[in-house]
Amino acid sequence: MSQQLTIALAKGRILDDTLALLARAGIEPADNLSSSRKLVFSTNQDHIKLVLIRSADVPVYVQYGAADLGVAGKDVLREHGGEGLYERVDLKIATCKMMTAGFADRTRPRGRLKVATKYPEITRDFFLQQGQQVELIKLYGSMELAPIVGLADLIVDLVDTGKTLKANGLIPLEHIMDISSRLIVNRASLKMKNQAVKDLVSKMEKAVEESFG
Ligand code: AMP
Repeated sequence: MSQQLTIALAKGRILDDTLALLARAGIEPADNLSSSRKLVFSTNQDHIKLVLIRSADVPVYVQYGAADLGVAGKDVLREHGGEGLYERVDLKIATCKMMTAGFADRTRPRGRLKVATKYPEITRDFFLQQGQQVELIKLYGSMELAPIVGLADLIVDLVDTGKTLKANGLIPLEHIMDISSRLIVNRASLKMKNQAVKDLVSKMEKAVEESFG
């Protein structure tokens, strides 16, 4: 019997691009993931099933082996820390930049800089490397609002087209890192299900190569 694989996929903006790559790799879900309320999906490959969860939960499922593989953004992986998993393929989808942003004309405060973000690990590392002590304010969304209402001096967020910042009177300032989605693998699955995992990883590598060169 072939080794069974579970792949954890993230809901939201990376889902369509992920499904396109999986389709190129010959894996198609039995139902429409975007419209269904189901969380577990069988595929045209008897040994592969998909689970659909929140992006920040993908590395957690893979870390504990509840999923053998997963697709998650580099931002989510850096925040998680990467324990128990390997990052195997840069899927080159959902590309964007992690940046600091703020008002163009705002003078620096005399005290500690207040930085609002959904990404405390990345933000802490970035300012530490700069030798700057900042006050981190953890938010769960709509970071752009924080400078407007005086909650923070700066934000750290993902920037794609820059339209969200612009619509709120903010500008991108410093580039922290490039982001894209990665295929991750549970460490134990790589050993125990080596053949099936290797086969899937190489199909996905080929799908990326065909899609983006
Ligand atoms: P944009 O207006 O195109 O610069 O997009 C910025 C907004 O979309 C911000 O709220 C970001 O948090 C979010 N965003 C941009 N790119 C991504 C991505 N690859 N993954 C998740 N969220 C993103």
